Amino acid sequence: MDKNQVLRNLPKMSVLLEHDGIKELEKTYPYGFIKAALNFGVNTIRDELLTSKTGLSEGRTDEEGLANRIITMANEFLADSFYNLRPVINATGIVIHTNLGRAPLPPEALRRIVQISGGYSNLEYDLNEGKRGERYTHIGDILRELTGAQDAIAVNNNAAAVLLSLTALARGREVIISRGEMVEIGGSFRIPEVLSQSGAKLVEVGTTNRTHLKDYENAINDDTALILKVHPSNYKIAGFTCEADDTELKELAEKHNLIFMKDLGSGAMVDLTPFGYPAEPTVTGTVKTGADIVTFSGDKLLGGPQAGIIVGDEKLITKIKSHPLTRALRIDKLTLAALETVLWYYKTNQWQDIPVNKMLIKPIEEMKNDAKILAEGLSAILLQKGEAQIVDDVSEAGGGSMPAHEMPSKAVSLCLKDYTPRQIFAKLRSGSPPIIGRIKKDNFLMDVRTLSKEEIGKIIETVGKMV
Ligand SMILES: *Cc1c(COP(=O)(O)O)cnc(C)c1O
Repeated sequence: MDKNQVLRNLPKMSVLLEHDGIKELEKTYPYGFIKAALNFGVNTIRDELLTSKTGLSEGRTDEEGLANRIITMANEFLADSFYNLRPVINATGIVIHTNLGRAPLPPEALRRIVQISGGYSNLEYDLNEGKRGERYTHIGDILRELTGAQDAIAVNNNAAAVLLSLTALARGREVIISRGEMVEIGGSFRIPEVLSQSGAKLVEVGTTNRTHLKDYENAINDDTALILKVHPSNYKIAGFTCEADDTELKELAEKHNLIFMKDLGSGAMVDLTPFGYPAEPTVTGTVKTGADIVTFSGDKLLGGPQAGIIVGDEKLITKIKSHPLTRALRIDKLTLAALETVLWYYKTNQWQDIPVNKMLIKPIEEMKNDAKILAEGLSAILLQKGEAQIVDDVSEAGGGSMPAHEMPSKAVSLCLKDYTPRQIFAKLRSGSPPIIGRIKKDNFLMDVRTLSKEEIGKIIETVGKMV
């Protein structure tokens, strides 16, 4: 059909908005969003017409045919790429991937976020007394019970937890830390810089590989407020090393009336050694050794929302709660709802159902099976256009947890005719949804450790549409 005739057949917005197909969309999306998406559809078709010599490459070109096509496009646009922030498929095998949003939340936490944020709640309201309450009470009891600590508070993230603790407890005074722990923990969180922001004076002791108890002891003076120990969560110093352990440091701190604080970072609640992982200090174990203050992330090994949790001595936590900086770093209600829920998974011994844990302990048999489904599904749609093969792989916990430890996993390597691995990597990133894999030894790999059954199906469907 003549191009100009097709252009004249493009339905008007008023016609599109009256179309039956819109009713379905209105159940999910605000009216204005649907209009914006329809505009996108109309413009896309118009551009295709104007730039091609032969008119539209496929489909009907009468008004009804074009309307259907625009509505389908609007639907896909709203579902996949209307927003800037959108879901991706993590096929990297890295479970706690900071750039991909760290911990996916369990379904009950999502339901709670919807429930709490869709209306009003007792966030800061004491239902018994009928007056102002405190937002931190909602996680106080459960954290006390789970960790054995006297009290707890949660803030925006662990960087905030460390900054706040140091500010409230050591501002204007000295903090002793080993040179082996003067580290940067991704995303520009540097221990020395956080310390200087807190207004505490940094006193470095020991050397990069070896710090002894007496190094700490020699540095103590009347200005010392706190001994800080940072858990090496994203690096490992190996070989000729030595460090003072928590028990010794706690004793030393106690003797001199100092605070012993431990920044755990990853925040393991359970021991994963039965599943083949290296021993990580757990929060409970750290509290037990006597750390006065323990800080850790909500969205690393805990598997919850972004948060920084501080547990420890009641008097110190009270001091932190009343510091003005706490107000600036406070946790919001969505996070609080999700955090409380995730903590309940631990309390009821359902921790294996938290997605991060589920992926970390995914049995190799299950991964073999998943890799088979993915490889066979891809092979069936690729035919002569490429190849998909199951390969042995190793994956990491990631997100600054259990550094340098690689767990055996299974992956599917994907080759496409006329594409380099880099080009496949880029092509799949442009999918709807984007699929993030990785390149290893000149192979494009998708590791099934971090993929659900549903995502495996989506990958096959998405790749099918692209090749
Ligand atoms: C990850 C980490 C932090 C920063 O925590 P965020 O929750 O990302 O702010 C601080 N300290 C240690 C030891 C960490 O591993």
